[in-house]
Amino acid sequence: MEITKEKAQGIATSLTIPNLAFIDGAFAEASDGNRFTTINPATGEAIAAVAHCTGADVDRAVVAARRSFADGVWSRSAPEARKEVLLKLAELIRENAQELAVMESLDSGKTITDCLHEIGTEVANFFQWYGELIDKTFGKVAPTGEDALALVVREPAGVVGLVLPWNFPLLMAAWKVAPALAAGCSCLVKPAEQTPLTALRLAELAKEAGLPDGVLNVLPGLGETTGQAIGRHADIDIVSFTGSTEVGGYFLRYAGESNLKVVGLEMGGKSPFIVLDDADLSDDLIDHAVNSAFWNGGQNCSANMRQIVDKRIADSFIEKVTARAAEYVVGDPLDPSTDIGAMVTQEHMERVTGYIAKGCAEGGKMLVGGAREGSGYFIDPVVFAGLTPEMTISREEIFGPVLGVLAVDGMDQALKLAMDTDYGLHATVFTRDIDRALYMARRLPCGTVSVNGFSEGDIKTPFGGYKRSGSLARDNGTEALDQYLQTKTIWISTGGGA
Ligand code: NAP
Ligand code: MG
Repeated sequence: MEITKEKAQGIATSLTIPNLAFIDGAFAEASDGNRFTTINPATGEAIAAVAHCTGADVDRAVVAARRSFADGVWSRSAPEARKEVLLKLAELIRENAQELAVMESLDSGKTITDCLHEIGTEVANFFQWYGELIDKTFGKVAPTGEDALALVVREPAGVVGLVLPWNFPLLMAAWKVAPALAAGCSCLVKPAEQTPLTALRLAELAKEAGLPDGVLNVLPGLGETTGQAIGRHADIDIVSFTGSTEVGGYFLRYAGESNLKVVGLEMGGKSPFIVLDDADLSDDLIDHAVNSAFWNGGQNCSANMRQIVDKRIADSFIEKVTARAAEYVVGDPLDPSTDIGAMVTQEHMERVTGYIAKGCAEGGKMLVGGAREGSGYFIDPVVFAGLTPEMTISREEIFGPVLGVLAVDGMDQALKLAMDTDYGLHATVFTRDIDRALYMARRLPCGTVSVNGFSEGDIKTPFGGYKRSGSLARDNGTEALDQYLQTKTIWISTGGGA
């Protein structure tokens, strides 16, 4: 899927911006009429004032979701009927992909190329894939004697709250909404305050696809108000959260202090990109190295910021990644030739530049990149050499376009350093030796290990974190359905024969 800059600019000037909450099948003001502003980070200008949902709005959405769940209009409808709605939604997303991608790019500062790929291909595919799964998901019959028939059935878990981050706004919505709807749940979605727009448009398209009122509600607002009201609501059965580790912890507390709802967490990371001494420092490897750190401006939970490289090849590696970093085009997100758009907000940009300054102050050697002067929140990709494990930028999630190289002596030191983190989301290993690759992959405590390429896997493979990167919940794959299904045993005594 492609788009020209002129086409994107044309769409940008004629967009209809959704700015109200979507509750029980209709757009609505917040109960107190309050709004918050969402800005375009490439210019710093306001895009829209969006309804800021209160606790009363969350209550109203939960009542609608519970009603739709209890009356079975979605939760107990025929699998084929639910499948048809999700397939139709996938089609509508493809038809509206350019408009959605421009909306997302304006709201988030992400490049139009990434937005178009994520939405036109991946988001649409998520609804299609989970739609297709609905009539292919079977329960079990347990082995019993002839005196019983034991059915193990999966049932939709109820009303779910889906709380989202800003870095992949509609993709993260799809990661959760598609399996939750496929499972038969009714949902409340809270998009991040920085990027509320495309989730609202998604709700409208879902209604057009035939989703019954009350099944998908979108509640824009701030974390402390709207997010907390969802976290503490007594009639929400499950929260699935993607965001920072700190806020993930709040949701566990909210659950503990309210109705003990189940909480699924996908959180931060400090992922290693490990290059062993036998690796071939090819253009392909270097492309993976820079992409793993700079993709989406480094605003990526699985960013491989810590690049752990054997000291025998570290100098050559540093030279090559520095040269590639200098080639990145940073600027207008609506221009398809741009590699990195704007950081999501001024505050976030300042947080990232603060880390860069700390990296220098603590003795890291900054070789290329840095913040831009002028309007918009732009940072040229940064490469640090000479990092040591105890430096702040080696330990804390930066969430910006920063790649740091830590030189190590041999595989065991590489593994030790890779494991020296509270996080456990992702790791990449480059080596030509399959035995060494598997040795590392089996020992790295993280949810995804990619070998000889940076990858998060795809729609078919579960994604989530060990340690402080996540709970046992997984997004993607058939595993994502497990977040939204209950398991019930039906034990039928049969009398044991004639
Ligand atoms: P965040 O600040 O934790 O926010 C995530 C969501 O929680 C937002 O909707 C936010 O609302 C809400 N929230 C904030 N404070 C809250 C509170 N006190 N109570 C209830 N809800 C609250 O994270 P972010 O900055 O949007 O996203 C970046 C983080 O997400 C990074 O740590 C990244 O690693 C992680 N992430 C993880 C994955 C994964 O799959 N593991 C994927 C993407 C991102 P507001 O928008 O109003 O703050
Ligand atoms: Mg915005």
